[in-house]
Amino acid sequence: MSLLEISEMSTGYNGVAVVRDLNLRVEEGEIVALLGPNGAGKTTTLLTTSGLNPVMKGDIKVLGKSVKGRRSHLIARDGLSHVPEDRSLFFQLTVKENLKLGAARGSVNLSQALGYFPALENLLDRKAGLLSGGEQQMLAMARALTVKPKLLMVDEMSLGLAPIIVERLLPVLRRIASETGAGVLLVEQHVHLALEVADRAYVMSHGSLAMEGDAKHLAANRHLLESSYLGGGELEEA
Ligand code: ATP
Repeated sequence: MSLLEISEMSTGYNGVAVVRDLNLRVEEGEIVALLGPNGAGKTTTLLTTSGLNPVMKGDIKVLGKSVKGRRSHLIARDGLSHVPEDRSLFFQLTVKENLKLGAARGSVNLSQALGYFPALENLLDRKAGLLSGGEQQMLAMARALTVKPKLLMVDEMSLGLAPIIVERLLPVLRRIASETGAGVLLVEQHVHLALEVADRAYVMSHGSLAMEGDAKHLAANRHLLESSYLGGGELEEA
């Protein structure tokens, strides 16, 4: 059974599809990059997987169960953690309080979460709003880990972060996937960094799947990606 199985799925807003006929899967222990220019439909796909947007056609199965008609907190309880693009931290609360709020949704596992982000250990009493961008992203990811997810979705992990910080965070995703067996679905603007860490990648363009393949193969044949980005955004240089 795939941890995530999206089949012929369309979704959108107010009855208008912005993602059409998408097929995508994530298996245990693998990192899958979801790439594509701005507006391609990546965030929408994650929101629908989390139960925050309706499936208009086809299906999404998280850990074998359809998300159709299910509330997002129940999907989360099954083992889905979603780190949204805005990170959704409580800035007035401390790092420890933010972590505990995440853990309140399920079994508490602060030590494992902090084990992946030891830099947070010394910041436990600091307000989240006073953390640097990189520390806030670590906190958002650590909070997602407190519920021991089986499927972890991270939206634009690199947003607003210096590339050097992103290069430090990406290997942590690899450790999480190999040590816990969780599958990771990573939406990322830095295509070359995402392909470095991912096993497989899907490229969306204008709401549809433009390409999918082995990440190493795509990284070695970047011309394959370029057509997907033409007219829709920039494919940055490695
Ligand atoms: P980005 O990197 O810019 O976030 P994306 O690939 O994640 O891009 P989405 O945010 O999923 O793309 O947007 C896909 C399409 O859906 C876009 O045309 C966008 O304008 C539209 N869209 C996104 N959010 C809404 C909303 N709340 N209501 C209506 N349309 C929306």
